[in-house]
Amino acid sequence: MKAAPEAQKRLLDLAELDSVIDRLAHRRRTLPELAEIDERSKLFAKIATQVIEAETEAGDLAREQAKAESDVDAVRTRADRDQKRLDSGAVTSPRDLSSLQSEIASLHKRQGDLEEIVLEIMERREAADTKVTDLIRQRDELAAALSTAEARRDEGLQEIDKEASEVQGRRAGVSGEIPADLLALYEKLKAQYGVGAAMLRGGRCQGCKVALSIAEMNRIKAAPHDEVLRCEECRRILVRTAESGL
Ligand SMILES: [Zn+2]
Repeated sequence: MKAAPEAQKRLLDLAELDSVIDRLAHRRRTLPELAEIDERSKLFAKIATQVIEAETEAGDLAREQAKAESDVDAVRTRADRDQKRLDSGAVTSPRDLSSLQSEIASLHKRQGDLEEIVLEIMERREAADTKVTDLIRQRDELAAALSTAEARRDEGLQEIDKEASEVQGRRAGVSGEIPADLLALYEKLKAQYGVGAAMLRGGRCQGCKVALSIAEMNRIKAAPHDEVLRCEECRRILVRTAESGL
């Protein structure tokens, strides 16, 4: 392939811009906020689940407490009714009296036991409510941190995209100055090797860093200026400049 030396040199400018574009794409993929958001999102989902579990537990305890309190009320009502019967004097048989008194005593005992249960449930419920409050606070703090990180990510991406579009604009200008066949070869090699063209500097290919043999240098010295050369080692387009050591 033939191409004017100036067009070949423009390939180096193009390669430089492409490396900037690649670096920007890499920065875009590895923005620290992305990992942070990923980690915080996972934690947020975990804590949101814990909030639901804790709320369910607190709700269950609230119902359990209401049930136990209504049990206490039922026993108390029954004890009060028995007490009234006893106080009314309507029950006269010693056997019935004794049975009534023993029932009242057993109801009081039962009421005491149930009240103990209510207290125990109230304590567990208090702990469960505290846990809910605590988890909700953690969840809300995480949500706030997450949206801050998302804002920072968006800002970072915007900055990168702005820079990338500016570089893309310059790249379009440079590639417009390169003949189509040379550009096509460059693009093909770029797709294949990551970098399509490299400078020959001081007898060394800047693409693969390999020093060219004397025979290879002699071959290049003898080659016409408009000959498009390739590095024998890495197959990239080898561009000659004043620094090539020829
Ligand atoms: Zn090379």
